[in-house]
Amino acid sequence: MGRFVRSRIVMLGPPGAGKGTQASALSERYGIEYISTGDVLRSNIARGTPDGLAAKRYVDSGELVPDDLVVRIVREHIEGMKGKGFILDGFPRTLAQAESLNEFAEIEVVLNITLPESEVVARLSGRRICSACGRIYNIHHTGERSTCECGGSLVRRGDDRPEVIRQRLETYERRTRPVIEYYRARGVLREVDGIGSIDDVFRRAISRLEEE
Ligand code: AMP
Repeated sequence: MGRFVRSRIVMLGPPGAGKGTQASALSERYGIEYISTGDVLRSNIARGTPDGLAAKRYVDSGELVPDDLVVRIVREHIEGMKGKGFILDGFPRTLAQAESLNEFAEIEVVLNITLPESEVVARLSGRRICSACGRIYNIHHTGERSTCECGGSLVRRGDDRPEVIRQRLETYERRTRPVIEYYRARGVLREVDGIGSIDDVFRRAISRLEEE
């Protein structure tokens, strides 16, 4: 009996729920492309590209970058993959993005990682990111460390400051929560409890993905 696996996946959930960690682990397990709009935007900002310059003030303040910019980034990426499967992390974040995505890709399953707000804030304050490879750590679990396994230095994300965290949560509630209902109405939404260790959540995500 073959496993029932989907290959066009969206990962939703509040900031800090573990979307990036889980989505990149799932992409390795299933041999599909990991696409994070946040990573693409941060990389453009770091390189000072026109997209980076256009996005910077939104990312710095915890607001959403205009839909047309992120939709173009995702569309170009997916169209360049010639049918390979993918998992989207951090996209779509608005109803308009979800509707645009629907025009160029058929999403098979949407995993929604749920986490109470108190836990979200605790996780974001302990989050560190490798400035070289983008790997994510949490000092509450790993203890204070300054370098990644790849040798890169670990830094706090610029938008993981308390006032920006508050803005990102407000933006999430107001603009992204409706996206959950959009996919629920289409019958593709599956909830994953985000409490527990990375491995616990990973096991839950796999079982939700592989069930029929
Ligand atoms: P993330 O790494 O997913 O938490 O994204 C970091 C920041 O990038 C967000 O707070 C937004 O400013 C911006 N961003 C990422 N994805 C999107 C998106 N789909 N739509 C608009 N802005 C986005």
